[in-house]
Formats: sequence, C-alpha cells, structure tokens
Amino acid sequence: MSQPIRIDLISDTGTRPTPGMRRAMAEAEVGDEQRGEDPSVLALCERVADLLGQEAALFLPSGTMCNQIAILLHCRPGDEVIAAESAHIVGTEGAGAAVLAGSFVRPIATSRGIFTGDDVAAAVRAPSAKTPRSRLVEVEQTSNRGGGAVWPLETLRGVARAAKAHGLALHMDGARLLNASVATGVPAADYAGLCDSAWLDLSKGLGCPAGGVLAGPADFIKEAWVWKFRLGGAMRQAGILAAAGVYALDNHVDRMAEDHDNARRLWDGVAALPGVRMAHPDVPTNMVFFDVSETGRAAADIGADLRGHGVRIGIQGPDLMRAVTHLDVDRAGIDGAVQALGAVLAA
Ligand SMILES: *Cc1c(COP(=O)(O)O)cnc(C)c1O
Repeated sequence: MSQPIRIDLISDTGTRPTPGMRRAMAEAEVGDEQRGEDPSVLALCERVADLLGQEAALFLPSGTMCNQIAILLHCRPGDEVIAAESAHIVGTEGAGAAVLAGSFVRPIATSRGIFTGDDVAAAVRAPSAKTPRSRLVEVEQTSNRGGGAVWPLETLRGVARAAKAHGLALHMDGARLLNASVATGVPAADYAGLCDSAWLDLSKGLGCPAGGVLAGPADFIKEAWVWKFRLGGAMRQAGILAAAGVYALDNHVDRMAEDHDNARRLWDGVAALPGVRMAHPDVPTNMVFFDVSETGRAAADIGADLRGHGVRIGIQGPDLMRAVTHLDVDRAGIDGAVQALGAVLAA
C-alpha cells in the first residue's frame, strides 16, 4: 500500500491556501466581476498592472487563458509566433494557438528556453504570399523546461529590440516572473515592461488556489475583456480568488527565496546519489531536473517507488524527473525527499 503523500514536489501548483490567505479570502469584499464591480478584483488588477509596468490588467481563471487571449489579440489566422521549443505554449496548451487563433508556433531550439535578438531575427520570415506572417515573439520568464532559468535583462532587451525592428509584438509568459525577480533583485516591471503584454500566475509560487493576471496597454486589456467573455472566463464574485492574490503579493513574494534555497539544497542532495545526472548545471530558481538513465531504471518506476515513501516527484520523460519547490515544502521535506530517493535507488 502506498503511503499518503507527505512531500509533494510534483509542482508549485499543489500548494494549499495558508490560514492567513483563507482569512483574506473569507473577508474579501466582492461584487459582480463581469460588471467591473468586484472591488477585490479591481484592486488586484491595479496592483499587477503596476507591478508589471503596464497600464491595465485583467483577472483570468488561469495562466493558460492569459497566454491564449494574448495570442488571440496579437495574431490573426496565418500568423506565426516565435517561441522556444520548450515553451509552455508549444507543448502544454493543447495547440491552442492553432485551434483558437489559427496561428502557427515556430519553435526554435534554445539552451534552457532562452534565445537572443539574433535568434529572433533569424526566425523572422521574409514576407511573401506563401509564408506564414511572423507576428509575435513569446518569452517565458522563468523558463519552466529550462530548469527555472532566468532571462537576463540584457538578453530580453535584445529580443525586444529585434521584435520591434521586425514589427513583431512581444509577449511574456510570466507564470514564474516573480521567482526571476526574487532571484535576481531585478524588479518585475523591468522585465515585463519591455513586453507588449505579460502575465503573472497566482497559482504557482504565489500559492493561490487559482488565477492569472494579464497586463498590457489599456486598449489591449479592453479587447481582452471580449475574449474573456467569449471563452467563458468572465466570473462573478471572483474577489474571493483575487483577495488571495493580493494577500500573496503582500506575503508570499520575498519568501520565494526560501524555495530557491530549498531547490539548491535538493540539487546538492540529488546530485550526490549514484546514477543520477543533473539536467542543468545550476538551480537559478525553484526547479530541479535530473536524468536517471544511468540508474538502469525508468523515471516512472522510480516515481512509483517514491510514492511508496510518501514522496512525489514529476516524470517529464522516460528518463527525466522534475522536482519543484514551493511554500508547502520546507527544508526537512527536502531532506526527506533526498533520503527517500536514495533509498529507492539503493533498493
Ligand atoms: C503553469 C504554466 C502555465 C499555465 O498556467 P495555468 O495557470 O496552469 O494555466 C503557463 N506557462 C508556464 C511556463 C507554466 O509553468
């Protein structure tokens, strides 16, 4: 019989609202969000627009909807989005760009999900009647499949310059933007302000139950409302959720440094185990990827055995595992996970 999961490193989405967050939610002032009458939603949107260096913002049920609405607004059918091959919009959003916006994603090979202005220039297609029309560049801060890699500000500036020079819009998937900001000390607005649109996920490291906030120019956000309704993302007393977001921005941002420390501790512990090869040379933020091919066992087998020890780590491929730190796992949990993995590999 498998134990209940004690240490869950499968994702930073698994966090439960803390008692303080639950109180903020319970006490939230609410109204009809669809009519623009929910004070907690309005407060959250204003806060995130400022935080991201943008004019306005819109509360949405998920980060995926933030990406999809942005693509819908920037692109027309036949347009092309330039993004890293490892990007969430490439492999993890049900081909939404194609299905919803009629657009094509041109995935480019990168190291750790990060590319340069020159890479953008090389991927832009010469206009012709028979090519897709290059229209949008998408960057992911931090890069999830890049092992939580942070886009350096200078690299992002180069991409923004190249996008502008070619008449392309720039969109930021900021699911973990605040992890980048906490890790580097660079204000989130310095990164996101370079983009035509950007969003934050509330349900990742911030520890909220749900939600994403999409930010951009006022006219862009006005148009985004149309898609929010059309896709069924307009809510009612959504202030219950937005209050969790405001609470998280007050209380859960600086503490992400602990998640980063824990991820480094995990990296050190896992790297010392026999047969394990770390997928990336460092741990910029809260993710640790490792390859288990030299253990002679499949990642899925190891994952199943770990569950027997009450530990959950993600399976990202036949030999690839991913552990993500977050506010529901402490130092002792990290040590417990390393110990369990050691025991599983030794068995
Ligand atoms: C989780 C994630 C998303 C999607 O966010 P949801 O809120 O789960 O829809 C998008 N991009 C990246 C990089 C993510 O990690």
